[in-house]
Amino acid sequence: MGFDTSGLLPLSDALQGMLEQLACCCDTEQLPLPDALGRVLACDIASPLAVPPFDNSAMDGYAVRLADLASGTPLIMAGKAFAGQPYQGEWPAGHCVRIMTGAPVPAGTDAVVMQEETQADGDRITFLAQPEPGQNIRRAGSDIGKDACVLPAGTRLTPREMPLLASLGVATVTVRRPLKVAIFSTGDELKPVGTPLAHGDIYDSNRYGVRAMLARMGCDCLDLGIIPDDPAQLRAAFIRADEEADVLITTGGVSVGEADFTKQLLDELGEIGFWKLAIKPGKPFAFGRLPRAWFFGLPGNPVSAMVTFDQLVQPALAKLAGQRFERPLQLQAIAAEPLKKSPGRLDFQRGIMSQGPNGIEVRSTGSQDSAVFSSLSQANCYIVLERERGRVAVGETVTVEPFGGLLL
Ligand code: AMP
Ligand code: MG
Repeated sequence: MGFDTSGLLPLSDALQGMLEQLACCCDTEQLPLPDALGRVLACDIASPLAVPPFDNSAMDGYAVRLADLASGTPLIMAGKAFAGQPYQGEWPAGHCVRIMTGAPVPAGTDAVVMQEETQADGDRITFLAQPEPGQNIRRAGSDIGKDACVLPAGTRLTPREMPLLASLGVATVTVRRPLKVAIFSTGDELKPVGTPLAHGDIYDSNRYGVRAMLARMGCDCLDLGIIPDDPAQLRAAFIRADEEADVLITTGGVSVGEADFTKQLLDELGEIGFWKLAIKPGKPFAFGRLPRAWFFGLPGNPVSAMVTFDQLVQPALAKLAGQRFERPLQLQAIAAEPLKKSPGRLDFQRGIMSQGPNGIEVRSTGSQDSAVFSSLSQANCYIVLERERGRVAVGETVTVEPFGGLLL
């Protein structure tokens, strides 16, 4: 489209380049299970038990031996088995055992016949259906075998894993300490919320977005506030972050007009690459190593900062934290309105997807300017438009990526 995009770095190359250099940097600690919510498992968890630990009934009904049912005559109830109170009496031929869901099935049981398929006349039980062998019996180990890996190292513990681990009797887990991430915003124009704005000032919004995403990832955040465009103060902030954190994330100061300034400082302190990414929003991006900490320099434009964090920084932090990471699914959707696009960069437009009569439809949130917050706040997905693609007409198929855990 008349401008040179050949020097831009594809997102996948940038991501691969970063991930190749990064390795988990978080030590491990033991925590009681309830305190480990949100933490990342440092080792595979092998089941110390078979689950269920014994053969048990999946229904309220009667435990039977198939041979006793062959004659078709009613069986006599020999006794009852409850969850937590196994039946321990004799089980003579021609008898059945009344059994409740979760109760251990008595030795010799071939099947459990559900109550609805029987008729009781006192202790005489008539069976209306012939059960299959094994019917309504949950076999020991059928859910989880003893020593089977139930959760691999790198799993972040969510409410879904807690009851699973408890069901195995796991009282303590070995997890990684949280990744410590220092953040600051750069810019003379930025003011913290809660203070008045002078002409030309804006509120520092990026730090609130970055902090929130770090919280969602379970990172510890060291918030160094707003640092003005002043070499001495920037230098002091970089050095402090490097000494106190595993990672430093800044926003602003990496675009063309300002990069020289930051670049000079960072070239002196570490080895940082200043990239021009072939994505929109979010062209300027810096990544590299300070003496001790890793550094991610995000663009200052608020939407660019959020999108580059989500797409690039999130997988990198996951690797440093020892956390397995999978990108959210991408789906195909029908463009319900035209979408503006120039070839040259991979677009992460912000869209609203919904269920239409012929499948998933997607609309734009309007202006895709990277300073327009509503484009992100109203959206529920990215519309991912390929690098070489131009404008999209109504009815064309496009790829959508529903917002994942960070942005929900
Ligand atoms: P920069 O990358 O520093 O050139 O900033 C690009 C644009 O983003 C400018 O309009 C800045 O005012 C704006 N900006 C930079 N940092 C922030 C921030 N923390 N919060 C809101 N806007 C910002
Ligand atoms: Mg700036």
